[in-house]
Amino acid sequence: MGKPTGEALAVTRDRGPGDPRLEVRLRRFYMALASYGLWATIALLGWAGDLIKMPLWLMLVMLGGVALSNAWFWYMLRSGRSLSFADPSMTKAQVTVGLFWILVVIGASHADRSLMMVVYIVIMLFGIFRLDREDFLQLTLLAMAGYVVVVAADLVHRGVELNLYHEAMRLLVLASCLLWCTFFGTHVAQLRAALRTQNEALQQHVKNAQRAAERDHLTSAYNRRYIMKALEEERARSERRHAPFAIIIFDLDHFKNINDRHGHVAGDRVLSRFAQIARRELRAVDIISPGRRRHAFGRFGGEEFIGLLPETGLEGARQCAERLQEVLAAERFEHGITVTFSAGIAVYRHGETTEETLSRADDALYRAKNAGRNRVYSEKGGSKPGKVVHLAPRD
Ligand code: GH3
Ligand code: MG
Ligand code: MG
Repeated sequence: MGKPTGEALAVTRDRGPGDPRLEVRLRRFYMALASYGLWATIALLGWAGDLIKMPLWLMLVMLGGVALSNAWFWYMLRSGRSLSFADPSMTKAQVTVGLFWILVVIGASHADRSLMMVVYIVIMLFGIFRLDREDFLQLTLLAMAGYVVVVAADLVHRGVELNLYHEAMRLLVLASCLLWCTFFGTHVAQLRAALRTQNEALQQHVKNAQRAAERDHLTSAYNRRYIMKALEEERARSERRHAPFAIIIFDLDHFKNINDRHGHVAGDRVLSRFAQIARRELRAVDIISPGRRRHAFGRFGGEEFIGLLPETGLEGARQCAERLQEVLAAERFEHGITVTFSAGIAVYRHGETTEETLSRADDALYRAKNAGRNRVYSEKGGSKPGKVVHLAPRD
């Protein structure tokens, strides 16, 4: 069925029925079927006018064979069984079968063979959508060999005198037409490949642009715009499903001092590192509860960050924040910097706006700061201060 092609290696996996690519394959198949109908009508007209000479039974066997082979292709494509082939469209097989039927007509009918050559081109043109040069060359060789064998058998069988010049001219025309199809098809295959490469590059650019639009460029955490959108979506979901969700606002303690003592660049690195650790910790929570919607972590601005915890209540959010406190206390930052944060938690209340939820989390954060910092506060009270591990400076 041909070697793996771009379609088989495409980024998105083939999904069988319902996949738009299946629709395309079936549309091409129906086009081929319509062509069979057209040529069968012409064959019947030729047969009625004695241009094509074959007994009725043979004509019926042929029409039955065409119908059966196409029913099989339809079944293979429609049922998704062809997906296990390197080329799920079965183009090469369909073209081969088409060439076979035209050879049967030539062999069995003593028809004017010059007329039949047009049909070869039509069949080969179907390969333009999928086949490459190698496929076309193989089909050309197959068609030529079949033609020579069938015509030789026909001449021997009928015992007519061989007009070598006429036969050679016919063969030359056939070979030229088929080779023209090969060159034309190769050119189209190259265009298809170039288009596919461009398409993949474009998809990658779109992905990169999308990522850039939703991330904070210093920390790679989500930016405020993304988080606000996610928050609004989560609110709508929570209203529909009556599932809780929590938000945590983190504010690094005395961050100005870090900048003042170690410089803005060191401060930037602390922000990036903090975001990296927080994302890792939230991802770890996602991994242990795979069925739940994933947490989102973003930079709200300056040294303030926000965690969005779907399907999580107050207690779950508190545990999450306190775990991050612990991890951060054990973390070694450059110049022996210790980093702590104060956090405010709020759980969404049915019917309120996201601004109201944020405002309650902000109030809780304010209270955590006032209570001495390095604490996690929620709308229902606060926690003990987190442990701060003071490490000896590395350099
Ligand atoms: P508090 O414990 O009350 O939160 O004290 P704080 O010093 O963390 O808070 P304050 O609001 O007084 O200062 C925040 C500092 O964060 C001031 C600002 O220069 C710094 N900052 C904001 N954004 C960035 C940034 O992108 N990079 C760096 N290095 N510093 C930043
Ligand atoms: Mg602040
Ligand atoms: Mg601060």
